[in-house]
Amino acid sequence: MDLKRVVNSVYNEIKPSIGKGKVADYIPALANIPINKFGIAVKTNDGNIYSAGDINEPFSIQSISKVLLLTLAMDFIGDDIWNRVGREPSGNPFNSLVQLERENGIPRNPFINAGSLVITDMVISHSNDAKKLLLDFVRNLSNNPSVNYDFEVAQSEKEHGFRNAALANFMKSYGNIENQVELVLDYYFHHCSLSMSCIDLVNTFSYLANSGIDVNSGKRILSKELNQRVNSLMLTCGLYDAVGDFAYRVGLPAKSGVGGGIITVVPNEMIIAVWSPGLDKVGNSVIGIDALEKFVKLTNKSIF
Ligand code: GLN
Repeated sequence: MDLKRVVNSVYNEIKPSIGKGKVADYIPALANIPINKFGIAVKTNDGNIYSAGDINEPFSIQSISKVLLLTLAMDFIGDDIWNRVGREPSGNPFNSLVQLERENGIPRNPFINAGSLVITDMVISHSNDAKKLLLDFVRNLSNNPSVNYDFEVAQSEKEHGFRNAALANFMKSYGNIENQVELVLDYYFHHCSLSMSCIDLVNTFSYLANSGIDVNSGKRILSKELNQRVNSLMLTCGLYDAVGDFAYRVGLPAKSGVGGGIITVVPNEMIIAVWSPGLDKVGNSVIGIDALEKFVKLTNKSIF
């Protein structure tokens, strides 16, 4: 398969739609991101990268960071994480509070905000300097020492993150947050603010498509079994309450963020990163999903 041609075709087909959707403005620092951006990068398990568009421009990865935190927590704690967080799709918006009370402060899955706050809390409990731990982890995987938190975005979300504060406090009341709520929120806002490009993302997440082994270094990041499970969770919970539609249209494990990025795994073959900041109502990149749908049509790479 000529992936260079495929990626260029996807880019050319998507080009007329660039600008569709609405930039996330509930985090004020994200409201000014130009909407007319689009990038796609594909990294195969043999280490080749195929790309088109704005692939070197860093953007706010937002909820894509939840995969990094889950990876760290699974590696530290293993299956015990499921005592404090579920693994079912929520069918609700990513920042919803409604299920939490009925389900006694146990969030549905690690990819909605409540679930990621619990995972974030676990990582804090298992490290002396959680921010440094994550930064070292991402810089190594991306092979890019300049990857960093965007402190302006983190601060902006901190000033406006009332819902996340509500979720964390509510779970604390059920005893499902161990550390101080302020500490957990601070770390959560920082990991969401990580600023990375499509190229950084395919380098960082290559292990997801490669049985848990980082493609560049050959280093094992997760056991084969745990890696499989992260992929399963991405398939069932990675795009919030649009996960069914995404499975129908694309049929691959993926994780989106309100910065407009989506990482998508073709198991045992390749990892794809797309970015375009215009979002749909659910909070997923409109033309990012269009691009992935076109990619799968051209390559027949859905897992189904
Ligand atoms: N930091 C964002 C929030 O908590 C992440 C949400 C997302 O990317 N879907 O609202």
